[in-house]
Amino acid sequence: MACNGASCQSNCYRDEDEPSAKPDDVRSAAAAADEGTGAVCVKCKANEPIAAAAAADGRFCADCFRSNLFGKFRHAVASNAMISPADNVLVAFSGGHASRVALQFVHDMQSKAQKNFDASRDLDRSLPVFGVGVAFIDESAACLIPSSEMDGVLRDIKLMVSQLSPPHKELHIFPVESVYSEGSRDSRDRLKELLDRVSDATGKEDLLAHLRMLALQKIASSYGYNRILLGSCTSRIASHVLSATVKGQGYSLPADIQYVDARWGVPLVFPLHDCLAQELRMLCHLDGAALRLQSCLMDHAPASTAWCHHS
Ligand SMILES: [Zn+2]
Repeated sequence: MACNGASCQSNCYRDEDEPSAKPDDVRSAAAAADEGTGAVCVKCKANEPIAAAAAADGRFCADCFRSNLFGKFRHAVASNAMISPADNVLVAFSGGHASRVALQFVHDMQSKAQKNFDASRDLDRSLPVFGVGVAFIDESAACLIPSSEMDGVLRDIKLMVSQLSPPHKELHIFPVESVYSEGSRDSRDRLKELLDRVSDATGKEDLLAHLRMLALQKIASSYGYNRILLGSCTSRIASHVLSATVKGQGYSLPADIQYVDARWGVPLVFPLHDCLAQELRMLCHLDGAALRLQSCLMDHAPASTAWCHHS
């Protein structure tokens, strides 16, 4: 249910069973936060807010901020039937803030489902727990990342995914050039040739995005996943709307901004559709997520191909 508190600007979702905050309480807490004296979280009225000076995000304490964001994720998943118990979900992971949060949240949902399943051991077990796998598309062939740094990145990803178990999550690391059929002549060189033939930066970026999606589809169909979960957030989608409009792609725009995109063989789902990039950054900051991965990739992305990953 959407929060309709008079002073709430965070578009949050409050659990049905929680007592709703009185608008007066919220106003006085917000006023206290503004004054910087005895500031409390606008939701739980107990803990210290993250940062009284910050905008909407800063009026929550860390726990309420996290549960508010997870609420938006869960709401998008539930109201668009993104994941059902029988599904096998492949999370497209780039190392950016958004895909980190997406992976963490889908893991939280899966562990909760697993706990419920274990608790019902002797009862009806008709609802299995959905499976989760993680895919990382190695674009070093296109971005010229030194192999030593890529090795460090892959080590970080493996460690991160292993820390999210149980339940076990298979990690698939595929080079983007794997879209070429196996056994074909050096696919890495073929990819470079293909990208070199595209002279304009935007075209190259679009081509790479398409190849990345083909690689994800290939992994999903080879390993039995029936959903691909992407970390595209509101800010990313808004930026896509602008760029697609400028490129004259208005025709396909309504389909591009859906919660579930069934135009591909394996449908794409976007559970962070209603979350802002700054909220996801804030959550990673609170969780102290090491971002060496993304900064390394950012450093080596050619100026022309901004890292417009499935962030
Ligand atoms: Zn709180």
